[in-house]
Amino acid sequence: MSPETLVKSSPFSSAEFDEYVMSTYARFPLTLVRGSGCRVWDDQGREYLDFVAGIATCTLGHAHSAMIAAVTEQAQTLVHISNLYYNTPQGDLAKWLVEHSCADRAFFCNSGAEANEAAIKLARKYAHTVRNITHPIIITANASFHGRTLATITATGQPKYQQNFDPLVPGFHYVPYNDVEALKSAIADLDRNEPQVAAIMLEGLQGEGGVRPGDRAYFQTVRQLCDEKGILLIMDEVQVGMGRSGKLWGYENLDIEPDIFTSAKGLGGGVPIGAMLCKSHCNVFSAGDHASTFGGNPFACAVALAVCHTLERENLLANVQARGEQLRSGLIQLAQKFPHLISDVRGWGLIDGLELSSDSTFTAADIVKIAIEEGVLLVPAGPKVLRFVPPLIVTSEEIDRAIAAVDRALTTLN
Ligand SMILES: *Cc1c(COP(=O)(O)O)cnc(C)c1O
Repeated sequence: MSPETLVKSSPFSSAEFDEYVMSTYARFPLTLVRGSGCRVWDDQGREYLDFVAGIATCTLGHAHSAMIAAVTEQAQTLVHISNLYYNTPQGDLAKWLVEHSCADRAFFCNSGAEANEAAIKLARKYAHTVRNITHPIIITANASFHGRTLATITATGQPKYQQNFDPLVPGFHYVPYNDVEALKSAIADLDRNEPQVAAIMLEGLQGEGGVRPGDRAYFQTVRQLCDEKGILLIMDEVQVGMGRSGKLWGYENLDIEPDIFTSAKGLGGGVPIGAMLCKSHCNVFSAGDHASTFGGNPFACAVALAVCHTLERENLLANVQARGEQLRSGLIQLAQKFPHLISDVRGWGLIDGLELSSDSTFTAADIVKIAIEEGVLLVPAGPKVLRFVPPLIVTSEEIDRAIAAVDRALTTLN
């Protein structure tokens, strides 16, 4: 089907759409019909520069030739067989991920929340079977985000995601992020009578929670505490992993290795896939412990493998680092131009945030709305943080265009 046919065959106004689809999302009034590179087009034929990338997901942008080739070839070969049988793309992808990370084994599923569910189950089984803990507790951070299933909204340290969905899953405890003393006293408290702390689950950089990078010194101490006490360190790499931070995995920026980590968003470049990886010492799952019908199917794995190979072949990590620096220095210039509006610029690689000062009278969503009119797609991370997560193939000229659009939006709102 040509792009033109796709545009003409789109029959839905947003009002009609809402008659059929549940209203779980507050959508921007745009219907996007096709994409190419870092650009997408709406049903009116208007072009947008895409600095959202399906929320930090479209690693290679839209309609990348490597993805088209993998999608086409695997669709013509074998899409799905279940995990009753072996399949080559799943083995190839697991091998690539193991060879390019600190982990020894991979489990595949279909999303970030599912990958975190798998990590939570693995940590609990390890606590029960290796450490004889009867009521394992997993410590997570305030302002974290780990997904929307019951266990992962419980892991998420933000009450707004939990409200009206109680009873929540037992066995979670929250601490402030980047706060060594708070973590130490939480562990001491929870383990006072008998060991209970099974795992500490953290993002190396909190994405949804406001693009907040972890402190290197904090994570060094977290790793040390885990080693001393036999606690597992789970890193949620769903948003920051797969090259987005300028390193393949976010934890590399902190000079630590987790026992378990999870990946999803960028892994499939837009095709749904999630993965939970672990080191051998905590690989306690045996046959029947965990499963997913779709997980690791040949289609999703072949596409994810193409994304991995393209990251390597096109040396995209170097681009992420260079474009990230360009983006942050452009945003810092905006902060100098509007010192009363902007309180912070931060991030790693191509996951960056612009924080509005507390006395600015507008929100990040207000900037996003104006940027859409300017032809640039952006996404907030909380009320006061504007998030920049373009495809990892973004060019220098595209970074400049995005900064110029934010400049115009700030000028309008000022
Ligand atoms: C998006 C996200 C998730 C949830 O992923 P889904 O694929 O939406 O289930 C989990 N953790 C982090 C850090 C995320 O950014």
